[in-house]
Amino acid sequence: MMVFRTTIHGHRVEFRLGDFGGESVVVNGREVSSIPINWNSRGHFIELSDEQGKPRAVELRRQSRKFKYEVIVSVDGQMRAVLLAEKDSSRPSCCTNCGYELAGLPVENGEKRCPECGRHTIV
Ligand SMILES: [Zn+2]
Repeated sequence: MMVFRTTIHGHRVEFRLGDFGGESVVVNGREVSSIPINWNSRGHFIELSDEQGKPRAVELRRQSRKFKYEVIVSVDGQMRAVLLAEKDSSRPSCCTNCGYELAGLPVENGEKRCPECGRHTIV
């Protein structure tokens, strides 16, 4: 799985690309959009409220360039960022933020939440 991460108006947003072409978008640890197999690189459209509580239309769309995947982030129709996949940290068993041992903790939405610092780590 490849993971693309960003923060949009204070929301923690992840775009996950599965090994078999499935895509999902996770906001603040909750899956909000998924496409099982996305041949046509259809975009994911979600709504996020900004710091003033105003709804923003956010689109995440995968594209491939030079044989690498990237994810285009648009907010209200304006391109905001191009995300590159995070380096595969080969599934760490410790929290990448504080080093807390995560083995044996419950998995939620493919993640474990560090009880020490609250950081989510993909498992
Ligand atoms: Zn931690």
